[in-house]
Amino acid sequence: MTKGKTFIISGPSGVGKSTVLKELFKGREDLYFSISATTRAPREGEQDGVHYHFIDVQHFQELIEADAFLEYAEYVGNFYGTPKKYVDQAMNAGKDVILDIEVQGALQVCNKRPETVRIFIAPPSWDELERRLKSRGTDSEEKIQKRLVRAKAELQTADVYDYFVINDSVEQAVREISAIMLAEHCKPAERMKILSE
Ligand code: 5GP
Repeated sequence: MTKGKTFIISGPSGVGKSTVLKELFKGREDLYFSISATTRAPREGEQDGVHYHFIDVQHFQELIEADAFLEYAEYVGNFYGTPKKYVDQAMNAGKDVILDIEVQGALQVCNKRPETVRIFIAPPSWDELERRLKSRGTDSEEKIQKRLVRAKAELQTADVYDYFVINDSVEQAVREISAIMLAEHCKPAERMKILSE
Protein backbone atom coordinates (compact mmCIF):
# COMPACT_ATOMS: atom_id res chain seq x y z
CA MET A 1 0.00 0.00 0.00
CA THR A 2 1.36 3.45 -0.86
CA LYS A 3 1.64 5.93 1.97
CA GLY A 4 -0.80 8.84 2.07
CA LYS A 5 0.26 12.40 1.44
CA THR A 6 -0.01 15.36 3.78
CA PHE A 7 -1.84 18.52 2.69
CA ILE A 8 -1.69 21.73 4.69
CA ILE A 9 -4.67 24.03 4.50
CA SER A 10 -3.90 27.50 5.84
CA GLY A 11 -5.88 30.67 5.71
CA PRO A 12 -6.97 33.46 7.99
CA SER A 13 -9.26 32.78 10.88
CA GLY A 14 -12.84 33.32 9.68
CA VAL A 15 -12.09 32.47 6.05
CA GLY A 16 -14.43 29.47 6.25
CA LYS A 17 -11.87 26.66 6.40
CA SER A 18 -13.99 24.55 8.76
CA THR A 19 -17.02 24.71 6.46
CA VAL A 20 -14.94 23.91 3.40
CA LEU A 21 -13.22 21.01 5.17
CA LYS A 22 -16.52 19.63 6.46
CA GLU A 23 -17.76 19.45 2.87
CA LEU A 24 -14.47 18.04 1.60
CA PHE A 25 -14.62 15.18 4.10
CA LYS A 26 -18.15 14.08 3.21
CA GLY A 27 -17.98 10.43 2.13
CA ARG A 28 -14.18 10.46 2.03
CA GLU A 29 -12.93 7.48 4.05
CA ASP A 30 -9.52 7.96 2.44
CA LEU A 31 -8.91 11.25 4.26
CA TYR A 32 -7.78 11.88 7.81
CA PHE A 33 -8.24 15.20 9.61
CA SER A 34 -5.46 15.87 12.08
CA ILE A 35 -6.98 17.01 15.37
CA SER A 36 -4.70 19.60 16.91
CA ALA A 37 -4.02 20.26 20.56
CA THR A 38 -4.73 23.81 21.70
CA THR A 39 -4.67 25.89 24.85
CA ARG A 40 -7.58 28.00 23.52
CA ALA A 41 -10.92 27.63 25.31
CA PRO A 42 -13.58 25.69 23.35
CA ARG A 43 -16.11 27.77 21.41
CA GLU A 44 -19.76 26.96 21.74
CA GLY A 45 -20.46 23.68 19.98
CA GLU A 46 -16.81 22.57 19.90
CA GLN A 47 -16.11 19.15 21.37
CA ASP A 48 -12.93 17.89 22.95
CA GLY A 49 -11.33 15.23 20.76
CA VAL A 50 -13.46 16.20 17.76
CA HIS A 51 -12.53 19.78 16.88
CA TYR A 52 -9.43 20.02 19.06
CA HIS A 53 -7.80 18.37 22.05
CA PHE A 54 -8.32 21.17 24.56
CA ILE A 55 -5.44 21.15 27.03
CA ASP A 56 -3.79 23.56 29.46
CA VAL A 57 -0.46 25.35 28.94
CA GLN A 58 1.40 22.99 31.28
CA HIS A 59 0.24 19.90 29.38
CA PHE A 60 1.14 21.65 26.10
CA GLN A 61 4.68 22.30 27.43
CA GLU A 62 5.03 18.65 28.44
CA LEU A 63 4.07 17.56 24.91
CA ILE A 64 6.67 19.96 23.43
CA GLU A 65 9.31 18.46 25.72
CA ALA A 66 8.27 14.93 24.78
CA ASP A 67 8.74 15.89 21.08
CA ALA A 68 5.12 14.88 20.46
CA PHE A 69 4.40 17.67 17.95
CA LEU A 70 5.14 17.68 14.25
CA GLU A 71 4.87 21.46 14.60
CA TYR A 72 3.42 24.00 17.01
CA ALA A 73 2.86 27.74 17.08
CA GLU A 74 1.36 30.57 19.06
CA TYR A 75 -1.65 32.29 17.48
CA VAL A 76 -3.34 35.36 18.97
CA GLY A 77 -2.44 34.42 22.54
CA ASN A 78 -2.96 30.65 22.42
CA PHE A 79 -0.83 27.64 21.48
CA TYR A 80 -1.73 25.15 18.78
CA GLY A 81 0.14 21.96 17.83
CA THR A 82 -0.13 18.94 15.54
CA PRO A 83 0.32 15.56 17.28
CA LYS A 84 2.93 13.68 15.22
CA LYS A 85 1.83 10.15 16.10
CA TYR A 86 -1.64 10.22 14.53
CA VAL A 87 -0.44 11.92 11.36
CA ASP A 88 2.12 9.17 10.83
CA GLN A 89 -0.34 6.40 11.67
CA ALA A 90 -2.85 7.70 9.12
CA MET A 91 -0.24 8.15 6.39
CA ASN A 92 1.10 4.65 7.00
CA ALA A 93 -2.47 3.37 6.64
CA GLY A 94 -2.55 4.95 3.15
CA LYS A 95 -4.73 7.92 4.07
CA ASP A 96 -4.18 11.50 2.96
CA VAL A 97 -3.81 13.77 5.95
CA ILE A 98 -5.23 17.29 6.17
CA LEU A 99 -3.59 19.74 8.53
CA ASP A 100 -5.59 22.90 9.21
CA ILE A 101 -2.72 25.02 10.53
CA GLU A 102 -1.48 28.60 10.37
CA VAL A 103 1.55 29.78 8.42
CA GLN A 104 4.35 29.46 11.03
CA GLY A 105 3.41 25.83 11.61
CA ALA A 106 3.15 25.25 7.86
CA LEU A 107 6.73 26.46 7.48
CA GLN A 108 7.95 24.07 10.19
CA VAL A 109 6.22 21.08 8.56
CA CYS A 110 7.66 21.93 5.15
CA ASN A 111 11.17 22.28 6.56
CA LYS A 112 10.88 18.83 8.10
CA ARG A 113 8.86 17.24 5.30
CA PRO A 114 9.34 19.14 2.02
CA GLU A 115 7.02 16.79 0.13
CA THR A 116 4.04 18.27 2.01
CA VAL A 117 1.59 20.14 -0.24
CA ARG A 118 0.52 23.61 0.92
CA ILE A 119 -2.81 25.16 0.01
CA PHE A 120 -3.72 28.70 1.07
CA ILE A 121 -7.38 29.69 1.36
CA ALA A 122 -8.10 33.40 1.03
CA PRO A 123 -11.29 35.39 1.57
CA PRO A 124 -12.92 37.11 -1.44
CA SER A 125 -12.24 40.47 0.30
CA TRP A 126 -11.17 41.94 3.66
CA ASP A 127 -14.65 43.34 4.24
CA GLU A 128 -16.10 39.89 3.80
CA LEU A 129 -13.54 38.40 6.22
CA GLU A 130 -14.44 40.99 8.86
CA ARG A 131 -18.12 40.31 8.29
CA ARG A 132 -17.59 36.54 8.71
CA LEU A 133 -15.53 36.99 11.90
CA LYS A 134 -18.21 39.25 13.39
CA SER A 135 -21.11 37.03 12.38
CA ARG A 136 -19.45 34.08 14.14
CA GLY A 137 -20.15 36.04 17.33
CA THR A 138 -17.58 34.13 19.37
CA ASP A 139 -14.74 36.63 19.68
CA SER A 140 -14.50 40.05 21.33
CA GLU A 141 -14.00 43.13 19.10
CA GLU A 142 -10.37 43.24 20.30
CA LYS A 143 -9.75 39.60 19.29
CA ILE A 144 -11.44 40.19 15.94
CA GLN A 145 -9.13 43.14 15.24
CA LYS A 146 -6.10 41.02 16.25
CA ARG A 147 -7.26 38.23 13.95
CA LEU A 148 -7.66 40.73 11.07
CA VAL A 149 -4.13 42.10 11.60
CA ARG A 150 -2.82 38.55 11.67
CA ALA A 151 -4.81 37.68 8.52
CA LYS A 152 -3.17 40.51 6.55
CA ALA A 153 0.29 39.37 7.68
CA GLU A 154 -0.54 35.78 6.69
CA LEU A 155 -1.61 36.81 3.21
CA GLN A 156 1.85 38.34 2.68
CA THR A 157 3.36 34.86 3.07
CA ALA A 158 0.90 33.12 0.78
CA ASP A 159 3.19 33.19 -2.25
CA VAL A 160 5.34 30.41 -0.74
CA TYR A 161 2.32 28.10 -0.82
CA ASP A 162 1.85 25.65 -3.70
CA TYR A 163 -1.78 26.59 -4.36
CA PHE A 164 -4.14 29.49 -3.69
CA VAL A 165 -7.89 29.00 -3.36
CA ILE A 166 -10.35 31.88 -2.93
CA ASN A 167 -13.30 30.90 -0.78
CA ASP A 168 -16.04 32.83 -2.51
CA SER A 169 -18.27 29.77 -2.90
CA VAL A 170 -17.78 26.73 -0.63
CA GLU A 171 -18.71 24.37 -3.46
CA GLN A 172 -16.07 25.84 -5.78
CA ALA A 173 -13.41 25.88 -3.05
CA VAL A 174 -14.07 22.17 -2.32
CA ARG A 175 -13.91 21.38 -6.04
CA GLU A 176 -10.57 23.16 -6.36
CA ILE A 177 -9.05 21.47 -3.29
CA SER A 178 -10.20 18.03 -4.50
CA ALA A 179 -8.69 18.73 -7.92
CA ILE A 180 -5.38 19.81 -6.36
CA MET A 181 -5.25 16.63 -4.25
CA LEU A 182 -6.02 14.43 -7.23
CA ALA A 183 -3.42 16.17 -9.40
CA GLU A 184 -0.78 15.74 -6.69
CA HIS A 185 -1.42 11.99 -6.75
CA CYS A 186 -0.94 11.98 -10.53
CA LYS A 187 2.61 13.34 -10.31
CA PRO A 188 5.12 10.88 -11.81
CA ALA A 189 6.94 10.35 -8.50
CA GLU A 190 3.65 9.33 -6.84
CA ARG A 191 2.43 7.08 -9.66
CA MET A 192 5.79 5.39 -10.05
CA LYS A 193 5.66 4.39 -6.38
CA ILE A 194 2.56 2.34 -7.22
CA LEU A 195 4.30 0.65 -10.14
CA SER A 196 7.34 -0.24 -8.07
CA GLU A 197 5.28 -1.89 -5.30
P1 5GP B 1 -9.05 28.90 15.68
O1 5GP B 1 -8.75 29.46 17.03
O2 5GP B 1 -9.81 29.88 14.81
O3 5GP B 1 -9.66 27.52 15.72
O4 5GP B 1 -7.64 28.68 14.95
C1 5GP B 1 -6.74 29.75 14.83
C2 5GP B 1 -5.66 29.38 13.85
O5 5GP B 1 -4.86 28.31 14.36
C3 5GP B 1 -6.19 28.92 12.49
O6 5GP B 1 -5.46 29.60 11.47
C4 5GP B 1 -5.86 27.45 12.46
O7 5GP B 1 -5.56 27.01 11.15
C5 5GP B 1 -4.60 27.41 13.31
N1 5GP B 1 -4.33 26.08 13.88
C6 5GP B 1 -5.19 25.15 14.30
N2 5GP B 1 -4.55 24.05 14.73
C7 5GP B 1 -3.23 24.31 14.56
C8 5GP B 1 -2.03 23.55 14.81
O8 5GP B 1 -2.02 22.41 15.25
N3 5GP B 1 -0.85 24.16 14.52
C9 5GP B 1 -0.78 25.43 14.01
N4 5GP B 1 0.43 25.91 13.74
N5 5GP B 1 -1.88 26.16 13.76
C10 5GP B 1 -3.08 25.61 14.03
